Amino acid sequence: MILLFGCKQPEDTDLTYGGSAAYSSGNLPTKWTKSFPLNLKISNDFDANETEAINLAADNWEESTENKINFFTTSNENLNPRTGLSSYNDGLYGVYKLYDWPAELPSTALAVTQINGTQYSSYIRIDQADILLNYDYYTFATDGGWGYDLTTVVLHEMGHFLGLYHDNSSKEDSVMYPTIGRYNDNQFPKENDITKISSKYNVDISRGIASVPTQKEAGQAVKITLEMYPDKEIMKVNGHEYEITHDE
Ligand SMILES: [Zn+2]
Repeated sequence: MILLFGCKQPEDTDLTYGGSAAYSSGNLPTKWTKSFPLNLKISNDFDANETEAINLAADNWEESTENKINFFTTSNENLNPRTGLSSYNDGLYGVYKLYDWPAELPSTALAVTQINGTQYSSYIRIDQADILLNYDYYTFATDGGWGYDLTTVVLHEMGHFLGLYHDNSSKEDSVMYPTIGRYNDNQFPKENDITKISSKYNVDISRGIASVPTQKEAGQAVKITLEMYPDKEIMKVNGHEYEITHDE
């Protein structure tokens, strides 16, 4: 699946993927079932201010749960750009600063969160996630300067990384609102986001992650890609692409 910035969410359209299974936007919950914290690698290509901006986004997701869940530990790593989107599915969760945007992705995408998961009847288990930032075509700011606010963009992408879909209500109610402007500064999860993330991971009742029932059924591999664009939204599930027209 690809979800994009600067765009409207699909209007409750039922989509299909993998040939048969019905995919209804956002209806099948997507979540991690392995223990938090996840070890998130931040590319050494980011400078100190950018790294701080990314860490702030991670901290703010945790703070939104009143620090009941420590979602991430972060560390810097030499993350070389990969050849081919499938090569990111390597067991390493990364935030990549890409000056050479993958040819498989449209140049107009601001950022992409790619998730590889396993689909069960009631949810999609996230097995791998990576955030790719398009420094090839866009400018990101950490100082309120010209460009897309890096913390705002990464906060939104981390929402996808943690399993959230877009929220169409408003920018005031959700950082998962599918649009962002150059000077939007939305650095802390909003009420809708806090409700959803808390519910997804049973924040109230556990030390952290929800206890997810062991699945007896066989899972089905699913690849989800979330792309954000300034002006449209594209959703990709297992390679099937769906463009959602901006209706504003
Ligand atoms: Zn998005």
